[in-house]
Amino acid sequence: MKIGIVGCAGRMGQMLVQEVLRTEGCELAGGTEQPGNPSLGKDVAGLSGADLAGVLITDDAEALIAGSDAVIDFTQPDATITHAQMAAGSGTIHVIGTTGLNGVQQDVLRKAAESTALIQAANMSVGINLLIGLTRQAAAVLGDDYDIEIVEMHHRYKVDAPSGTALALGQAAADGRNVDLDAVSQRVRDGITGPRKTGDIGFATLRGGDVVGDHTVILAGAGERIEISHKAGSREVFARGAARAALWAEGKAPGLYSMRDVLGFE
Ligand code: NAD
Repeated sequence: MKIGIVGCAGRMGQMLVQEVLRTEGCELAGGTEQPGNPSLGKDVAGLSGADLAGVLITDDAEALIAGSDAVIDFTQPDATITHAQMAAGSGTIHVIGTTGLNGVQQDVLRKAAESTALIQAANMSVGINLLIGLTRQAAAVLGDDYDIEIVEMHHRYKVDAPSGTALALGQAAADGRNVDLDAVSQRVRDGITGPRKTGDIGFATLRGGDVVGDHTVILAGAGERIEISHKAGSREVFARGAARAALWAEGKAPGLYSMRDVLGFE
C-alpha cells in the first residue's frame, strides 16, 4: 500500500514516516509540509536523523494524495479539511489524527466520507481505545451518584485543550449515561463556582515538559473513588495505530470510521 504523510516534518509526521518505512506491506509515497516550512526540499526521513528515504518533502498535497492509496494526516484542522476534500476527489483513504476540529469542520469530513474511507480518532493507541470502552461501561454501571472528572496532561507545545482524547472520554461517559455531553460538560472552573452539579462531567487540563499524553477518568462516589488511567510513553503507539488503520481501510466502502472499527471493539 502506497502511503503519503502530510505534515511530515511535525512531531507525529516524523514518527509516521518511520512507521511506514518499517511496516510490512507499506511503501512511503512521499511527504508534504505547508508552504514556507524550512523542511521543504529535504529528505522526508532525514529530519529525525534516520537513514535517508530518497524522497523529498514538497508542498503539493494534491499530487501526493492523488498518487497515494492512503494518506495519514496529523496536522491542524484547516489543513485536514482541505486534505479530506482532496482525498474525496481522488478516492484516497484518509487517516486523520488531527484534533481540535469544530462542528463545521467535522461536517466537511462527513461530506468527504461519502466518497472515500476516512478513519478519524482523537487517539490512535489501542490502550486508549480500550479506556474509552471501559469508561462508557463504568459510567453506565455507576450512574449519577459517581462524579466523573477527566484529567489530562500533555507536553508544553500542545495547542488545543482539553485534548481530543479527553473529549472522547467525556463523550464515552456521556454515552454510558445516555446524556448529551454539551449539556453536562464543565470544561473550565475558576473563582466562586458554587458546588458541583450532579451529573456534570468535568475536565482538567495540565500542560508541561515533554509528556506524550496522560489521561485519567475519575469516578468519585461517597466513600470510594475509581480511577482508570492510560499513560502513553512514546508517540510510536499513535503512529502504529495510524498505519494499522490505513492497512485496515483497504477495500472498505466510503464512510467515516473510528479506531473502534479498526480494532474490532464492540
Ligand atoms: P506538530 O505541530 O509537531 O506537527 C504538525 C505539522 O503539520 C507541522 O509540521 C506543520 O507544519 C504541519 N502542517 C500544518 N499545516 C499543514 C499543511 N497545510 N500542509 C502540510 N503540513 C501542514 O504537531 P503534532 O504534535 O505532530 O500534532 C499534530 C496533530 O496531531 C495535533 O492536532 C495533535 O493533537 C494530533 N495528535 C493526535 C494523536 C492521535 O493519536 N490521534 C496523537 C498525537 C497528536
